[in-house]
Amino acid sequence: MNGSIPNAAGAIAVVKAVQRRNERRLCIGFEAYQRDRPKPSKFTPISHCLQSQWVLILIGLIYFDNNATTRVAPEVFEVMTPYWTELWGNPSSAYQFGHRLTKDIEAAREKVAALINAQPKEIVFTSCGTESNNAAINSALALQPDRRHVLTTAVEHSATLKFCQLLKKRGYDVTFLPVESDGTLDLHLLEQSIRPDTALVSTMWANNETGVLFPIEEVAAICQSRDVLFHTDAIQVAGKLKIDVHAMGLDMLSLSAHKLHAPKGIGVLYVKRNTRFQPYLIGGGQEHGRRGGTENVAYIVGFGRAAELAIARQNDENTRIKALRDRLENGILKTIPNTSRNGAKEPRLPNTSNLAFDGLEAEALLMSLDHKGICASSGSACTTGSPEPSHVLTAMGVSRERARGSIRLSLGIYNTAEEVDYALGQLPKIVETLRSASPAF
Ligand code: PLP
Repeated sequence: MNGSIPNAAGAIAVVKAVQRRNERRLCIGFEAYQRDRPKPSKFTPISHCLQSQWVLILIGLIYFDNNATTRVAPEVFEVMTPYWTELWGNPSSAYQFGHRLTKDIEAAREKVAALINAQPKEIVFTSCGTESNNAAINSALALQPDRRHVLTTAVEHSATLKFCQLLKKRGYDVTFLPVESDGTLDLHLLEQSIRPDTALVSTMWANNETGVLFPIEEVAAICQSRDVLFHTDAIQVAGKLKIDVHAMGLDMLSLSAHKLHAPKGIGVLYVKRNTRFQPYLIGGGQEHGRRGGTENVAYIVGFGRAAELAIARQNDENTRIKALRDRLENGILKTIPNTSRNGAKEPRLPNTSNLAFDGLEAEALLMSLDHKGICASSGSACTTGSPEPSHVLTAMGVSRERARGSIRLSLGIYNTAEEVDYALGQLPKIVETLRSASPAF
């Protein structure tokens, strides 16, 4: 065997690199491999190992859908568990067993506040990002009854879009601003669309499907100069880009913990100090009277820890993830003909890539990827199963056919270069097979 040809030892080195990131996943993989596969010898070329899925078995799941949700970090899980087993009291109780938990909630509030450079008092814990968006819009309208207009965009997540559609049915006026063909926002049009009766401008910061960023600082400045409240859905931004609510002059901002390695079912609404706020959930006096409902202490503490971790790794990890995303995106665009990116290359989230594969149905492509252990999506997880093409791509003027052949790949902190290379090895064959069977190609 020529010494320059990578062999099974090379594959094992790959696996060891993965092992450092995910030992448990590796063990499961190893058992599966030992049961089903002949052990590669030291003469087995690594290319054969890749082809034979040997590495896939060892790597396990390749998760490229981090905009849908993220894996709970072990460090987050660890700090949460005592709140189910020992510290399960109600923070509103007068006795110490319950009341002492308020200290833990306040500590978490400080950590989440630090993530966005807010003051702890400006943080309201909610049940999810959807609730945060609904609550922000609801409050702005409830407290300004003479203003019945909301300005938003056509590419919002359904947590804003559907709430605004409902408002229309209830007699409010909503403007859904169009976007440019690359998914960016026309600031001039936004400014022109603000009216004397506009109660709120609510736009997302980063699009969950394309990763395209809106110029939030400029939107905030326009709103301030026109004396209109501004809310931004920063759910895809947290942990990926620096957020400074004070420097940017934001009135309200939504976060969701499950996008940054904490559990699903816990969110935050930042409400700027001295901004009047009407609770959305009416009940007890929790969250300093801004949200009724017994606090989900374990999840709040988990969110705090996730915020702390996100601050610590923000710069290095996002540089690494961006390099992986670019390697994946450039590799696909270079090696697979008739593929292109949807949305602007920049400004964009460092982890997101939305790619069109001409002549393909995204669902078939995603199924084939799933078969190879690769998780990706065709857009928002909240609209999966809808027969309609993505409303985001449609608003960008992307044709129905192209939108139906588009997928989103969103990377995260647990992804590795080996996973990217494995996907790059699989995708051309999958696309070729699907296209050869496609009448549209
Ligand atoms: N807004 C955006 C941009 C999102 O990506 C999501 C989740 O995918 C949401 C809102 C809803 O957040 P949650 O799942 O916490 O309700």
